[in-house]
Amino acid sequence: MESINLSRLLREGGSNESQGELHELVLLSERIPLEGPASWKVSLTRIDGEEDELWMSGEIAGKAAMECRRCLGPALVPVRAHFQHLLRYQADHPLEAVDVDGEEIFLFGHPDLDLTPFLSEAFALELPYTVLCREDCQGLCEECGANLNLTPDCCTRSKPQTKLGGLLDELGLG
Ligand SMILES: [Zn+2]
Ligand SMILES: [Zn+2]
Repeated sequence: MESINLSRLLREGGSNESQGELHELVLLSERIPLEGPASWKVSLTRIDGEEDELWMSGEIAGKAAMECRRCLGPALVPVRAHFQHLLRYQADHPLEAVDVDGEEIFLFGHPDLDLTPFLSEAFALELPYTVLCREDCQGLCEECGANLNLTPDCCTRSKPQTKLGGLLDELGLG
């Protein structure tokens, strides 16, 4: 959990910059697996004339550890995400996005604001739907299920050889 206290910003105005590293990202109680930490930076600025409103802008960068769609092995995906939100402090209100005249505003009810949901969401939105561990991934063997990147010589691959062997036999060359 990465929380920052916004009491002073809400009271006195100005802006607040913070940064750090996250080792775990969770979105809708689902963990987004990471390879190494994700680094993030967030700046919050109180909007002039709006005592309880803050403009948030931030970025997060890291490597997601996804599953290759062909071989089901690990596939690392570099992700860099930027986000901007309008926030409004409303005492005791749980964190929630509401629609105000067609504009999305995040209500928050405690001056200690947890940044993790914003960082996790931005990161998750940048994730591709499917990935390959490498462009020429050989996938899994249809017969035995072996990872063909690791064992290129398993059953399926030996078939052409068998055919060739048969042909050579027929020609009396085997
Ligand atoms: Zn693969
Ligand atoms: Zn096989």
